[in-house]
Amino acid sequence: MRLILCGPPGAGKGTQCKRIVDKYALTHLSSGDILRAERAAGTELGKKAQGYMDTGALVPDDVIIGMMIGAIKKAAGNYVLDGFPRTLPQAEGLDKALREAGEKVDAIVNLLVDDEVIEKRLTGRRSCPTCGAVYHIENLPPKVDGQCDKSCGQLVQRDDDKPDVVRNRLKTYHEQTEAVVGFYEAEGRSILNINADRDIDEVTTAVFAALNKIDG
Ligand code: ADP
Ligand code: AMP
Repeated sequence: MRLILCGPPGAGKGTQCKRIVDKYALTHLSSGDILRAERAAGTELGKKAQGYMDTGALVPDDVIIGMMIGAIKKAAGNYVLDGFPRTLPQAEGLDKALREAGEKVDAIVNLLVDDEVIEKRLTGRRSCPTCGAVYHIENLPPKVDGQCDKSCGQLVQRDDDKPDVVRNRLKTYHEQTEAVVGFYEAEGRSILNINADRDIDEVTTAVFAALNKIDG
């Protein structure tokens, strides 16, 4: 199954993807996670991405398209895309690569949440740098304050989850990313719109119900 999970930063894409990949045995392809891994490894790609990520801007399309098409090819038709495509050229680049391979995305899930909710989610997000688990200081707290439940150690706050960068990321989302859903609508694709302003488990139930319909 090939899925795209859309929605603003902080909508809960990563949180829901972890559950989707477990249920449907898919590979989670998060462009943000891949970029952070490249940065941590000190690669040329990571160095190129750094300045954009730190200010809440988007990394240039040519860098992202090459990186994600490579990852998609390795996932052999079973994946969920998280954070990609994020611009119209990225959506077109993905479309072209899939068309050339004779493939098609099975579903586009769109998580809907208002900006005020997002600011609270992102500024309260804490992540484990070792295993990638994601928590929230109020909505999904770890068992021991500041420590990963899987005994990895200290949780961290992403630099781009600080309030001023969060505001830039939301601006970037409205200016450049929101239109991606319109791109798929114009192509006649049906969008699985999910109200993501509710409990994490309730969102998961709604996502699974929508996916079960297309999965038969
Ligand atoms: P995204 O991948 O879309 O940027 P995340 O999945 O990392 O978003 O979620 C952002 C923050 O919001 C995390 O701290 C997460 O624990 C929390 N969160 C995710 N979904 C919900 C929800 N439905 N209700 C409350 N908090 C949530
Ligand atoms: P995320 O983890 O999805 O919130 O992404 C973190 C940051 O990585 C973003 O603010 C961008 O700077 C960069 N990024 C992630 N995905 C993309 C993408 N598809 N296109 C451009 N930049 C991206």
